[in-house]
Amino acid sequence: MKPPPFRYEKPTSVEGLLATLAEQGDGAKILAGGQSLVPMMNLRLVYPEVLLDINGLSELDYLRLEDGMLRIGALTRHNTLRDSDLLAERCPLAAAAYRHVAHATIRNRGTLGGNLSHADPASEMPAVMLCLEASLVLRSNAGERSVAASDFFQGALTTALQSHELLTEIRIPLAAAGTGWSFQEVSPRKGDFALAAVAATLQVSNGLCQRVRIAHAGVEDRAARAGSAEAGIEGHAPGEELFAAAADEAARAVDPTESYHADGDHKRDLLRALIKRALSEAHGRCGA
Ligand code: FAD
Repeated sequence: MKPPPFRYEKPTSVEGLLATLAEQGDGAKILAGGQSLVPMMNLRLVYPEVLLDINGLSELDYLRLEDGMLRIGALTRHNTLRDSDLLAERCPLAAAAYRHVAHATIRNRGTLGGNLSHADPASEMPAVMLCLEASLVLRSNAGERSVAASDFFQGALTTALQSHELLTEIRIPLAAAGTGWSFQEVSPRKGDFALAAVAATLQVSNGLCQRVRIAHAGVEDRAARAGSAEAGIEGHAPGEELFAAAADEAARAVDPTESYHADGDHKRDLLRALIKRALSEAHGRCGA
């Protein structure tokens, strides 16, 4: 199917883009990699009056280490990040998650900013951002604001972004030395969206679990943290029984969506198994 008619503009500066966004309001859509937006337009689920192509804004394409955090420009392609030595060294959890994101041709065009702005409930990177407590920088004509990942994802394909705002940067704080991490996923085929995926980090200090972070994708209508499971582990001595109890708690607490591939009970089972596996692997990596 073809998309409905639209006007196409390619701004040459972020300021120019923000001015047009402010004028157009809900009628404009930002085009990044187009790997989610164009299919949605073809299916006539969205029908913007004007597409604002940000692919000429090379100042939004970067990955650098600065002020104790990784700063990633919103237009950075999935494959650039997947192949980055810096990401692998300083944020191995995100690098591991990227092994599960889509197929090579899609990753060549798709961007991290587009992925997070689209907020597909079964997408891997929102869960990674929640687990790593990243923040997202949103710019508009009126200025700039930083939104915690925990406030950004608000529902299926729904975020804190307003129609006049551009996501410009993703900021990921560096984990403390010795933090263990794991990313686990089950999907129908390699490169497909997750049926269930789990990102976890934890530290062990004086023999007790600290700073436990567990986030999941694919299970509910949005990526989310497993707060009650985290609380059940925090301050306790690590061990398989503790991890199994936390996984049970997380599976009990979720409100799963159903799909062709998995009903709610199946998703709970997947989540339980993946959390247990992720905590165990993260624990094994603590101190490494
Ligand atoms: P676009 O499609 O260009 O934009 C998506 C949305 O975000 C639009 O609403 C757009 O207006 C908005 N937007 C884009 N950039 C910005 C910005 N900087 N500021 C504000 N709004 C913005 N994803 C996964 O995570 N895991 C998968 O396994 C996976 N598998 C896929 C398989 C297929 C067959 C396809 C077609 C896609 C798959 N994807 C998967 C989606 C892919 O990751 C997309 O690239 C991504 O979701 C959207 O990024 P994009 O740059 O293409 O954004």
